[in-house]
Amino acid sequence: MARHTVTLIPGDGIGLETSAAMQRVVAASGADIEWELAPAGAACMEEHGTPLPESTIEAVERNKVAIKGPITTPVGTGFRSVNVALRKTLDLYVCLRPVLSIPGAGGRYEDVDLVIVRENSEDLYAGIEFEEGSEGACKLIDFVEKSGAGSIRPDSGISIKPISVTATRNIVEYAFEYALKHGRKKVTAAHKANIMKHSDGLFLREAREVAKRYEGKVAFDDKIIDAFCMSLVMDPSQFDVIVFPNLYGDIASDLAAGLVGGLGIAPGANIGRDCAVFEAVHGSAPDIAGKNLANPTAEILSAAMMLDHLGELEAAERIRRAVRSVYARGEHLTADIRRATGSGATAASCTEFTDALVAALEAE
Ligand code: ATP
Repeated sequence: MARHTVTLIPGDGIGLETSAAMQRVVAASGADIEWELAPAGAACMEEHGTPLPESTIEAVERNKVAIKGPITTPVGTGFRSVNVALRKTLDLYVCLRPVLSIPGAGGRYEDVDLVIVRENSEDLYAGIEFEEGSEGACKLIDFVEKSGAGSIRPDSGISIKPISVTATRNIVEYAFEYALKHGRKKVTAAHKANIMKHSDGLFLREAREVAKRYEGKVAFDDKIIDAFCMSLVMDPSQFDVIVFPNLYGDIASDLAAGLVGGLGIAPGANIGRDCAVFEAVHGSAPDIAGKNLANPTAEILSAAMMLDHLGELEAAERIRRAVRSVYARGEHLTADIRRATGSGATAASCTEFTDALVAALEAE
């Protein structure tokens, strides 16, 4: 029997290619993993009539650990985000995204080393929305006007942005505990408290309260989100652990990924008290799906995070070492990295890159 059983949700688009690559690399790392396949996403919708079957949620609950490829979320219409539904159903309240330079990956800086901690359960991602012209939207518009809070144009669609004391305390505590555990020096809270006083203002107030408990152990400061974005791009070294409400964390994740070479190399995890689901930051990239062009590094580094979580620290470190060596050699890099580095060299396919990585692991 394998040491660990992990639920594997390959997902949509490039997820099929990156998940297969990830499985090969994990096998070559020596970690003893049995994969339990579980469907979700657009193809699953066609086959099973739902994008997220109950059996998939049960499989994650049973195994406690899953790794997931990207799942397409239809824009504007269609089924609601499976990613958001999974996070909600399994109470995966933390989205953890380390951002680390890989020499040779074409980053704007050579020494980025920061950690994004994104609240995963509320904010504008809560999914509480009222369609323009609907009864709910009309009632809400009426209520807002009668309460004297302001006025909303009658032809508005409305999305609600709840930020709670409970979720804020939970996520900020996680950020500080993570900082303590990993020897990090500072937590920064990013917000727009000057404009949204009762949502972001609450986030900042609670973050400051939690920070008091860590005084003398981990430093704390805060940044208004727009100023944060500029500061991050100009000098990422001033940041260490950064904690965000949901939406800003989503946007900042892609921004930070751009600093180190792009979405192709940005790993992540969704963590709850009972379960953890590891997944790359990127989406399903339909433009390159099925063409063997995807860069599987992000999913492979997400698997390394998963192995850390499972206590397979050596296998995780072996994978990270192999990734660094393949990038340092620079012979078998995918097209996104060739673009980021401005190199005219021929790009490797997803399979060729994975072959090089497996060879590096086997050569150890
Ligand atoms: P989502 O809304 O799910 O975040 P998205 O369409 O906004 O998805 P992604 O699918 O993450 O964005 O990617 C945007 C673009 O970045 C893709 O169209 C693709 O060109 C590129 N890209 C993303 N991930 C990868 C990858 N792993 N390898 C190569 N290119 C990638």
